[in-house]
Amino acid sequence: MRDNWNPRTRAVHGGTRRSQYGEVSEAIFLTQGFVYDSAEAAAQRFEAAGEDEFIYARYGNPTVAMFEERIAMLEGAEDGFATASGMAAVSGALTSMLKAGDRVVSSRALFGSCLYVLEDILTRYGVEVVFVDGTDLDQWRAAITPGTTAVFFESISNPTLEVIDIAAVSDLAHAAGATVLVDNVFATPVFSNAIQQGADVVIYSATKHIDGQGRALGGIILGTRDFIRKTVEPYMKHTGGSMSPFTAWVMLKGLETLDLRVRAQAASALALADALQGHSALTRVIYPGHPSHAQHALVGAQMDGKGGTVLSIDLKDGQAAAFKFLNALTIPVISNNLGDAKSILTHPATTTHQRLPQDQKDALGITPGLVRMSVGLEDASDLIADIRQALDQAQ
Ligand SMILES: *Cc1c(COP(=O)(O)O)cnc(C)c1O
Repeated sequence: MRDNWNPRTRAVHGGTRRSQYGEVSEAIFLTQGFVYDSAEAAAQRFEAAGEDEFIYARYGNPTVAMFEERIAMLEGAEDGFATASGMAAVSGALTSMLKAGDRVVSSRALFGSCLYVLEDILTRYGVEVVFVDGTDLDQWRAAITPGTTAVFFESISNPTLEVIDIAAVSDLAHAAGATVLVDNVFATPVFSNAIQQGADVVIYSATKHIDGQGRALGGIILGTRDFIRKTVEPYMKHTGGSMSPFTAWVMLKGLETLDLRVRAQAASALALADALQGHSALTRVIYPGHPSHAQHALVGAQMDGKGGTVLSIDLKDGQAAAFKFLNALTIPVISNNLGDAKSILTHPATTTHQRLPQDQKDALGITPGLVRMSVGLEDASDLIADIRQALDQAQ
């Protein structure tokens, strides 16, 4: 019966483990270790731990296991390993499966830390990393040579919100024998189940929409039971990037409301994109869920037409205007997270993407006037009015 549950039911009940007290809300098992009934039982558990038998919180914990099972059910993945942050998930998934001499093909438009892991860290250990324009299938086709080990991309790029065709890139990768790893943060498990669409491994920074209220860092690696338990788990449990039980509890509660929050935030993002279209202070409004987006047809197929909770705008008069606009806002806050209940605005060129040399900023469309808007749960009409008055002041 559980297998037939729809996503919202999975997100509320999936993975629940009740203690002998029959608590309704999930318990936080804030314990590092677990007591064995006898020396023989300890030896037995180290030899072969069964389902729901725990040894040490770095290896696994009941609250963390609830979160892993709930998000795996929601994504339609066989299994998952929860991590201390989104980056622990990205670096753990890649490092656990790669070795010197392997070849990785990745899209170039990446979150700054993902780019660092691929470009600066993996290459130091003898992994060859090749970057392509993720929206250009011909570039993927040329780069994914036979024997390529892994293909990595963010399904919606940050901050210019290009959409990558998960099914098409996965087909090319699988033909070459490569494993496909997708960072699906911007799409969220509500709008896109990358595993159903062809990916082998899906990664979320739970810090974003899964928490959804800006409290805790976390991440999850989702994939086949074999990949998670034989490749990811040994690496993660011995290198120390596991999720804490308290964080797992925050994320479990976040999953219960994920669908409602993300749909409401996406509806407001679309309303904002509509309202700002053609505004005289702007050169472009980028929102994957808007008909004006270059890949709107792909968004229809891959995300049921929903564009997520983030849009970007480009101010005609560059950085000075962008700063004036940001400083004139009264509701959204200036910060660099996303997926929060509070609307958060970011100037990528001087913050999240500051490290990139100018030619890379140009290539990725990170212009001086670009502002990324993570749309929160405020009333959309209040947001539109506030953004309009701030744009007026910036002109
Ligand atoms: C935030 C983010 C990450 C990293 O997540 P943390 O939880 O901050 O470590 C990775 N990928 C993308 C696309 C992100 O937005």
